[in-house]
Amino acid sequence: MSSIVFGPILSRRFGKSLGIDLSPYTKICNYDCLYCELSPARPTTEPQEVPEVEEIVAEVQKALHRYDDIDILTITANGEPTLYPKLAKLIKRLKEISGGRKILILSNGSTVPDRETREALKMLDIVKLSLDCATPRCLRRIDRMHKSIDPERIKEGMLKFADEYEGSLIIEILVVAGINDRESEMRALSDFLVKLAPERIDIGTIDRPPAYDVKAVDYGRLRELSMCFDPSLHIAITSREGATDTKASSYTREEIISTLSRRPLTPHDVEILFDRESAQRLDSLVKEGKVTKVEKNGVIFFENCTKTLDK
Ligand code: SF4
Repeated sequence: MSSIVFGPILSRRFGKSLGIDLSPYTKICNYDCLYCELSPARPTTEPQEVPEVEEIVAEVQKALHRYDDIDILTITANGEPTLYPKLAKLIKRLKEISGGRKILILSNGSTVPDRETREALKMLDIVKLSLDCATPRCLRRIDRMHKSIDPERIKEGMLKFADEYEGSLIIEILVVAGINDRESEMRALSDFLVKLAPERIDIGTIDRPPAYDVKAVDYGRLRELSMCFDPSLHIAITSREGATDTKASSYTREEIISTLSRRPLTPHDVEILFDRESAQRLDSLVKEGKVTKVEKNGVIFFENCTKTLDK
């Protein structure tokens, strides 16, 4: 397999995914995140050597012939994929050869203020953007962005994009100990995300060796932070780090309903938080129609049904 195409990778959420790397030769990113799993590099916005559109398309076609059970194409990069200079043209071509498969992009969101980027992203089925906090100071500290980037403009661009986009918008938050793990930061982020109204928000922490000397938080802390978000938001905790230290608890039927009113839970949360009897009570509540299951782009959430009926 070429360095442009990688995988297939089995994703719990999307099935078999074929990865497409738009900067296979060197890291090209306008951020230098503390938690990046690539080597540290000075942020750049300058064009660099990247493969041609038809070279990428040919590699993807070859891989699709070899693996006929791919469910989704994932556009990513050794850096930030939206810096690819012919993104719109590439996406158009990928759609032509995708055989109806969904196409997803993983982006840091920095270029959504540009109309051209938004127009390109609008052609995709799923757009996953990072937003680690909402205040400019915190964003600069964690993402160490190029000096030409204004965090407030990114947020404005995201709001514009969410307004125009008809596909699935997912936001990813990565929490770093001592940097963006304060409740006040998460509340500010929640206020912004209520306006943005993404389909789902994934919150996780460092799980691979980071570029700089920073530390992860454990599952318990992620869960506490997830409670800072507005109950209307669907937050999925993606990290199991420290989850084995979390003791399963007993919840009465009323406690289950009241917990779900404050935050919808995923089966992953239930597995960690609920003891066996509580999980059975949850099942009964689902059967009785008092709790409902909703799917948000491949992730199931248990919700208090009355809230769902009120929507
Ligand atoms: S945006 Fe992604 S690639 Fe760029 S520095 Fe941050 S984590 Fe690394």
